[in-house]
Amino acid sequence: MGRTPPVADNHGHVNPVKGLGPREVARRFRRTGGWFMGVVALLTWDLDLRPGDLNDVDRLYRLTIESARVIQGEGVRSVAIIGLHPAECVRLIETGWGLDKVRGYMVKAIDLAAQYIKRGEAVGIGEVGRPHWDVGSDVVKLCNEVIEYALTVAKDLGAVVHLHLERAGEATVKSIVDIVNKVGVRDRGKVILHHASPGMVKPGVENGLTPSVPIGRHGEFEEAIRQSRLIVVESDYIDDPRRPGAVIPPWRILSRVNQLLQLGVVNEDDITSIMVDRIEELYGVKYS
Ligand SMILES: [Zn+2]
Repeated sequence: MGRTPPVADNHGHVNPVKGLGPREVARRFRRTGGWFMGVVALLTWDLDLRPGDLNDVDRLYRLTIESARVIQGEGVRSVAIIGLHPAECVRLIETGWGLDKVRGYMVKAIDLAAQYIKRGEAVGIGEVGRPHWDVGSDVVKLCNEVIEYALTVAKDLGAVVHLHLERAGEATVKSIVDIVNKVGVRDRGKVILHHASPGMVKPGVENGLTPSVPIGRHGEFEEAIRQSRLIVVESDYIDDPRRPGAVIPPWRILSRVNQLLQLGVVNEDDITSIMVDRIEELYGVKYS
């Protein structure tokens, strides 16, 4: 390529309390071709906040929005995606909350996110969804109701939704398509299948959804890109020094892209499409 390929991270986290924080992550990412980062809310307890407290959810959202601003200040275009992870749901149930109470709480957390989106401080809801581990059917039902509510709110706002799901290929996609149809989502591309497995790519794209593939997963990414090129990629970096090897950090995406280019897994046009065109469409940002 001769020049540095543009690098975008559709879904990553930064932890201003316990991790490197937004400034350092942005500087490293910027030095390695990074031009865009979707900053997604962590879990409340990752930031020493209390699950089940809406005031702390508000703090979580504000810290996420502030992180995106700091990243942007370092020369990396950045947007905030705010919401409550399904693990919060499970945690509240474990501490004895009834399902109705949890549902009401998750709805309020989405309503709170909507206020920030309306003011233009955040662009989407996430990550919301279902646990990727086995839970009872009553919890799955509750999570599906939360997904439906999030998609309804996002539809009215024209916002993106980052969905955290189990990775069961076509079955996972079909269950989401059912909810998308029920809600009548108009811009289906704004429904993002975060951490998509290779088996979710083709059915996702065929149904107009956007798979976000973890580029750090060797073998998996190669398999995913063979299914479709209409994807975005993510680091899913969690900025947790205690779990350094969990995923690749955003600043390693460039070397991975160069490797994939050298191996001929992708070409320059693919990279432009994935790293620039799709991101511009999704978030209304401009690469320059
Ligand atoms: Zn994530």
